[in-house]
Amino acid sequence: MEFEVMPEFVFQPPPPVTLPVTDGRLFPVRRVFCVGRNYEAHTREMGGDPSREPPFFFTKPADALVLPGQDTPYPSETTSLHHEIELVVAIGSGGASIQPSGALSHVFGYAVGIDLTRRDMQAEAKALRRPWDLSKGFDASAPIGMIAPASAIGHPASGRIALSVNGELRQEGDLADQIWPVPDIIATLSRFVALAPGDLIFTGTPKGVNAVAKGQVLEGEISGVGTLRTRVV
Ligand code: MN
Repeated sequence: MEFEVMPEFVFQPPPPVTLPVTDGRLFPVRRVFCVGRNYEAHTREMGGDPSREPPFFFTKPADALVLPGQDTPYPSETTSLHHEIELVVAIGSGGASIQPSGALSHVFGYAVGIDLTRRDMQAEAKALRRPWDLSKGFDASAPIGMIAPASAIGHPASGRIALSVNGELRQEGDLADQIWPVPDIIATLSRFVALAPGDLIFTGTPKGVNAVAKGQVLEGEISGVGTLRTRVV
């Protein structure tokens, strides 16, 4: 039997993006999905209709994550960088066309995340019917905290979600006010893509989104899940 020589890489592949888990392990990240509008009050503040239309999704690259303890560099090409505090679902086992009734068994854990948005560029994209990729999926657009395993914290369906900037409360809501709860989000998303271990899902933000400036400190908290802190530099 002959063995072929493994071809050389043109350059060293980057190491996998990994998130710390509160139990000391590492969670290897595969993809990052985000839900568009999932709280009534935020849908209204963005000029939308909070009727229960199916959730819609966009994505960010896995290497857009800002890991716990890291600063967030202020991005280029915007003068309106907005914060959106969100519950993040970490998928532990994959599947397609998952039923809502079994969806939570696919969840490894949860984290606090911020969906940073170039709001000016996004508004232009909406007006011109262009994609959101570069208004949502830019470098360092997704600060995130440690992952808390569901085996330790359960599956939070209610609880305070809040974000402050330099100690001043900006966003506050309750997970119970999500238009689409986590099982429905997983069920809907898995009809369009086969979910895989390592996928993250940002589940939408409550009202109060606003701009942040260089030098400001963002602090997020979700009751029963965890915290997040990053400085914009
Ligand atoms: Mn968002």
